[in-house]
Amino acid sequence: MVARETFAKVSPLTGETLGNYPLSSTDEAIRAVESARRAFQTWKMTTVESRGRLIRAAARLLEDRKSELALLVRRETGKPLADSEAEIGGAIEMGYMLAAHGRFPYGKLLPSAIPLRQTRLQRVPLGVAALIITYNAPIPNFAWKIFPALMAGNTVVVKPSPHTPGSADAFVSILHEAGIPPEVLHVVHGEAEAATGLIEGGADLVSFTGSYPTGVKVLEAAAKTLAKTVIELGGSNPLVVRSDADVENAAKTAMDSAFSNAGQRCASASRVIVHSSVLEKFLDHVQTNAAQLTVGAADEATIGTLIDSSAAVAFEAYLQTCADSGASVTRLGVISGESAATVRPALVTGLDPYSEVGHTEVFGPVMRVFGFETDDQAVEIANATEFGLTAAIWSRDIVQAERMVSRIHAGVININGPTHGAEINYPFGGVKHSGNGSRDAGVEAIDAYSDVQVVSTFFGA
Ligand code: NAD
Repeated sequence: MVARETFAKVSPLTGETLGNYPLSSTDEAIRAVESARRAFQTWKMTTVESRGRLIRAAARLLEDRKSELALLVRRETGKPLADSEAEIGGAIEMGYMLAAHGRFPYGKLLPSAIPLRQTRLQRVPLGVAALIITYNAPIPNFAWKIFPALMAGNTVVVKPSPHTPGSADAFVSILHEAGIPPEVLHVVHGEAEAATGLIEGGADLVSFTGSYPTGVKVLEAAAKTLAKTVIELGGSNPLVVRSDADVENAAKTAMDSAFSNAGQRCASASRVIVHSSVLEKFLDHVQTNAAQLTVGAADEATIGTLIDSSAAVAFEAYLQTCADSGASVTRLGVISGESAATVRPALVTGLDPYSEVGHTEVFGPVMRVFGFETDDQAVEIANATEFGLTAAIWSRDIVQAERMVSRIHAGVININGPTHGAEINYPFGGVKHSGNGSRDAGVEAIDAYSDVQVVSTFFGA
């Protein structure tokens, strides 16, 4: 018998191997899609109410297991336990919200030009949903895709990030325990081979969260099968601080958006654009607040590690590029628990906002600060990125802030708030290289994970 190919998951906190997981081949992924397709014939006939009941049971079980799951996520991702628990809370709420949706009216009656023709528009499942997912907030990432896909009546094959295989197995097994049949919800582990196998295997829906380059590959592969796609990609999100802003709170919030989750957020505020009249004050507040930041693998650290040591090496290399281009790089916070995946947050000033290094996505704890003189300039800098996921504007003048909203290209914009912090009932997604127009979360997710069918009866025939 040929030994199963596996990969090791190493904890970013300790460097220890947490487990070995099967590295699924393309063929195995195709077989998972075939199995899910067979199960679809039965699953699609279940009522939306009964699917809601199962998802509610799953949300309840997630609540019971929240502490152990949070610990597992912490060990796999290096994030603080409190952050891990809060994220799982969001995933649970997503389950309850979508489960309730099973009892809501859905569909439309369409008027007809023909007498005695009655036409309804209804939502129908697509078939097999392939869900390819990143690592930064594993449990909500699973919940945002798996719950709406199942609620809409699809069967599912999940391909989690190889950085969070244990969290994926735990989440999926809780859903199985809640009564969702294993043939309705599969998981395959691995990398590109497994993911492309799901697409080549003919999944009817491909929902992907990850980086822009991989997103493009997913779209290219899905173009051959014409699968419906939900594509959620990166961001290089601007937070604008106007001269009339509450600068102290803006600085605190910008730091939270830039550094929490060790900056591994698609919605992180990695570019902060501050009016020159309050720039010094803003930077002073950042330095003062930085004294509170503890970073690393220790339980008491307020900011955790990056996902692994190679992400830490890439982050340091990025900061070196900033320094080489003449920027000033200041490291913030104190280390609490060294590990190879630990990096100190960085404040970078003096970069050209229009340069690649000034607007690229970093996916680490960096805050690049740029000055501006006029709102036109602030908007120009905010839009000087290929991404368009989220943005924030700080101003006491709501009229001027709203004017900026209409000019900044982003899927999600907050006034006097962070760039992150999506709520479960808000559709989330971006424009430009941040996504393809689809939305995860919100009740809009049901639209993304289903198809429209138009059915007419001719009573006059
Ligand atoms: P990634 O693109 O490297 O990987 C994402 C997933 O794709 C993983 O499961 C990976 O195994 C899989 N994959 C790898 N090669 C593939 C291929 N050829 N075809 C199909 N799938 C393949 O991204 P990452 O490093 O895991 O995640 C970081 C990125 O995710 C950042 O750009 C971040 O902004 C983005 N992100 C976006 C959102 C959002 O909602 N928009 C949320 C979180 C993270």
